[in-house]
Formats: sequence, C-alpha cells, structure tokens
Amino acid sequence: MPTYWTQTVIPTLRQAPGDAEVPSHQLMLRAGLVRKLGSGSYSYLPLGLRSLNKVIAIIRDEMANAGAAEIFMPTLQPIDLWEQTKRREAYGDNLFVVTDRHGRVQALGPTHEEVVTDLIGACISSYKDLPKTVYQIQTKFRDEFRPRFGVLRSREFLMKDAYSFHTSLEGGAGSGSLDETYDKQYAAYQRIFERCGVPFMIVEAEAGPIGGNASHEFMVPSPTGEDTILTNDAGYSANVEKCETGPRDSDLTGDATGELEAVNTPGCAGIEDVCVFFKKQLKTKLATKNMLKTLVFSGANQRRVVAVVRGDHEVNEAKLRATVGCDIAMGDQDEMRNAGFAIGYVGPHVAIGKDDVDVYVDPDAAQGGFWVTGANETDHHHKHFNWQRDLIDQGVNVTVADIRNAVEGDPAPAERGGGTLQATKGIEVGHVFKLGCKYTEALGVTVSDENNQRVPVIMGCYGIGVNRILAAAIEAKTETRTGHDDNGIIWPAAIAPFTVVITPIAYEGQVKQVVDDLASTLETEHGMDVLVDDRSAEIARPGVKFKDADLIGIPIRITVGEKGLANGEVEIKARDGSNGAKGETITVDQCVAHCVALLQNIA
Ligand code: ATP
Ligand code: MG
Repeated sequence: MPTYWTQTVIPTLRQAPGDAEVPSHQLMLRAGLVRKLGSGSYSYLPLGLRSLNKVIAIIRDEMANAGAAEIFMPTLQPIDLWEQTKRREAYGDNLFVVTDRHGRVQALGPTHEEVVTDLIGACISSYKDLPKTVYQIQTKFRDEFRPRFGVLRSREFLMKDAYSFHTSLEGGAGSGSLDETYDKQYAAYQRIFERCGVPFMIVEAEAGPIGGNASHEFMVPSPTGEDTILTNDAGYSANVEKCETGPRDSDLTGDATGELEAVNTPGCAGIEDVCVFFKKQLKTKLATKNMLKTLVFSGANQRRVVAVVRGDHEVNEAKLRATVGCDIAMGDQDEMRNAGFAIGYVGPHVAIGKDDVDVYVDPDAAQGGFWVTGANETDHHHKHFNWQRDLIDQGVNVTVADIRNAVEGDPAPAERGGGTLQATKGIEVGHVFKLGCKYTEALGVTVSDENNQRVPVIMGCYGIGVNRILAAAIEAKTETRTGHDDNGIIWPAAIAPFTVVITPIAYEGQVKQVVDDLASTLETEHGMDVLVDDRSAEIARPGVKFKDADLIGIPIRITVGEKGLANGEVEIKARDGSNGAKGETITVDQCVAHCVALLQNIA
C-alpha cells in the first residue's frame, strides 16, 4: 500500500526556527522529520522514522554479515560499575546520574562497555567460548555541554554499539583475534556507509591503551563538521588529535626583542583575553601566535610537567604523554596554586629553581622573536620573553618535541608520504576502537586457556551514531554528492523516507486511477516505497505540493495531471537533477521502467 499524504503527518514549514543553525537541523525541522521536545531531545515524525529505520535495517544486515549477534542492554546502569572502571570520574558531567526511591544511584548509559563486559564476562569461561561479537541499537544519554545542531549533537540519541571479546590481539583469518574482528567491523562500516549512500572518509584516531593503529573514525565530509581531518596527497588521513607531523625547525637560542617587561593584565587568564586587553587598553596589536600557552600537568614520582605551545596551538596530551614517557594528568587547580603555579598566568620560567619541574616545548614555540607569556603571578604577563636568556641561562633544561595537535600547513611525516597537511571538516558518524583489557581487567573478567590457566580477555568496541547518519547525509558535501540545495533535502535513495512521491495535480477521476495504478506497480513489482500527495487544492495547490516534494527530498517525483494524460503523458523528475532541472515528459507506459532506470543512477 502506498502512503497517502493526508493520512500521515508531514508538517512542513516554510521557515526554520531561529535557533536552527546548520542546514540539516533546519531541513529536518522544515521537512517535518523531527520536532524538538527539550534541549537535545527530539521526537521522530513518520518521515524521520522511516529514514531512521532504513539506516537501522542496513546496519542490522551488515552486523549479521560480520558475525555480530544482536542483544539489548538497559539504560539504567548501577553506578558501582562506573566506579569500578573509574569512568564515573572520567565521564564527569557528561554522565546523567539518577537516584531511585531507595537511594540507589544509577547512570543513564552514555555507552555500554561496563554493562557488556559484566554481561558477557558471565557468559564465557574458556578460550573456546571466544571470539564473540555482540551489538545493540539503543538509546544513549549524554549530558553534552553544548547540545546543538539538532540530532547531530543531542543528549539522547540512538547508537549502534558493538563489542568483541578475544584471547589474542594479532592473527589473520580464522584466528579469532581482535585484529581479525576489527578488520571485519571496519569492512562492515565501509559497507554500511556505502549502502546508506553517504560519502565518508576513514581517518586514524587516537589509539588509546593499545597504541599503534588501533582506532579509526568514519567521517562524513561537510563544512559544518565539528571535527578537523588532516590529509596529505599520499592518502594519509588522521584526526587532529592523532595526526603525526614531519620534522619542524626550532631555535632556542634565537634573539630577544627587548628586556623582559612586566605588564599588568587584570582578569586576563585566557590567551584571547590578553590579546583583547593589549588591543583595548595598551593600544598594541598582539596576535595569539606571539603568545606562549603554558599548561601544567602532574607526572610520575611527584614531578610536574610544564608544556608550552604557541598561543594559537593546542597541547596534545597523547603526544605529550608519549614524549614524557609516563602518564600525565591535568593537576587539581587548587593543589597547583598551592604548589606555586599561578594558574592562568603560568610561564615557562616558573621552572626556575624548581628541580621537580620538566619543561617541554613545541618547535614552533621554541624560537627567538617576540613572545608574551604569563609572568607566574596572577594578573600579570611578561613581554619579550626569551628562551635562552630567561630560562636556559637560569639553569633550566628544556626539551623540544612535537607536543601539539597538527594544523593545516604542517609537514606530513615522510613515512606517510610527506608533503603538506591539508584540513577538511567532517562529521564523526562511526568509530572503531581496539580497547584492550581496560574493562575486563577492571571488572575481573578472564577465561581459561588450553592449559587451564586464567588469561585476560581483550576487547574491541565499535560505535555508529544512527541519528547522526541522517543529519550527516543532509550535510554531506563532496564533489560527487551534496545532501541538500536551496529547495530542501536531496536524500540518497537507500535511506530516503520514500523512493517515489507521486504528485497528482488533482487527485480525482482518471488522474486518481493512473496514480493508484502507478503506485501499486512501483510498490508490488519493484519494491519501492511510494508516497501519494493526495491533498486537495484547498489544502495545497500544485505549486505548494511541488515545493514540499523538493523540501522532503524524495529521489523521484512523478507528476500526473489531466492535461498530460490527454496525451497519455506524465512528468518524471529526479530530485538530484540527474534528468534535468525540469525533469522529463514520458508516456504513462514508459513511466515505471524509466523510474527504475533513473533510480539506478541515484546514489
Ligand atoms: P563526539 O566526539 O562527536 O562527541 P564521541 O567520540 O564522544 O563523539 P563515541 O563515544 O565514539 O562518540 O560514540 C560513537 C558514535 O556515537 C559517534 O561516532 C557519533 O556518531 C555518535 N554520537 C556521539 N555523541 C553523540 C551525540 N551527542 N549526538 C548524536 N550522536 C552522537
Ligand atoms: Mg568517537
């Protein structure tokens, strides 16, 4: 049965509410796919749900192909589990926490590593039970600091999360290793996004405990993406946190630009604050790239790590950790203040006379020239800081190393093909990750091996943002596919709410007969989903129907009117413009075959 417009709920809007900033958010509201209930929570109306269900069906199919078994786990998770893995603290305010009537505290699951480890851990006892891969499609809760962009970053969203369990890390086909399953999931992800018709890039992401090439993100290229991807011409592609760079020059002996000079900068704890203060109060231009950003971490054995990058760069904790060679953590601010660090106003010269402090500086910041830095005294900065004169000559050792996030224009590493890194914006729709033993260790999950010895269980986890795929399909912008234009959404056929919309000029008499016949043939003989816009002229005139059809983005529109039928003709138009801006006029007899042919060329 086709769906009739008057029987379903498609509340299209001419204009999006003012708080909808990005095209997918605006269009999902305007096309009547979703409605906002509260901050970061959305209801799905019939069109939105149809698309969502198509995505889910593709995911289920590919998960089954990859050998993953579907399960379903609760949202309410005892907080003890989160405490055992130390993630209650790590997740911080992003974790929704509720207390029940008996005073028991529960987390609303933002992800399910703890629960699945506990669950599967109790179902396995021997290496013979492994490998196992399970997944679910389930609602996650995250108290995002800034829910925005509609369903792209919401507080309640659907995730497909898969988890795998192994006794070996490496090993090819048939070995049951984590690597083998990781590769299977990776390939399944490629097929999922291909089948959904969304363009994507695979980027290396931060590896976590296993190191190496242990994590990849699947990104949809779009100017509105919140993630930055760096690539070179040789095909290297990584997110800013993971991206390695080639060698950069440094010169700690470079000249000073003047005597070290103190400047009173009241209330200017941030880099931008200082630049604004210089401009407004001192009438001097100060660029962020002329400031030194100094962060203090606590390292091993009560030592402090002072990390310095240029003001317009970001310290990369993973790179810093690797350079220092031990775990580091952002220290507690009060404790740091007590130890003599003027938080917000720290400069590298804080290390003078302190033998428990190590200074690391990024090559771009390890240069002569004009520097403004914190003066190690609240509300004060120093102008003309010089590495040699103000630090090294004062007896402080300085290590120069790549400790910052990569940026566009950096040299790419030679072993990754060299050249210069270019930046692209992307939307993270999926993430595969080799977890290692973090959760099984914390929750005491082991199995017996061939010799009846208990051995650790190694895990992988694999997530897809299901709702995000819809928004990303609309945001997508590459040379081959654009998810929207000025008139509305342009759905990829596989996840469009309907494949065909039939628009009768007036749904009556002979027109009605032809429309119903076409709809029935397309559905029963070709498995298409058909929407019939049966609205009367009083509710929607033909012009409005055409506008709505474009707005909701159905891949094919067939227009049937009395005039055309007098010549035995109807109009057929592909939403992506592939059969011309106005579409084509064809005979009723050719319509179905032509529709099938057109769809074959639509991504
Ligand atoms: P992000 O960096 O965007 O906050 P994440 O890395 O924290 O995401 P994961 O824990 O890797 O997210 O979750 C798996 C997938 O769930 C992500 O790849 C993303 O597609 C989706 N996702 C995560 N957070 C949200 C959210 N707030 N709203 C919608 N989808 C989300
Ligand atoms: Mg992620």
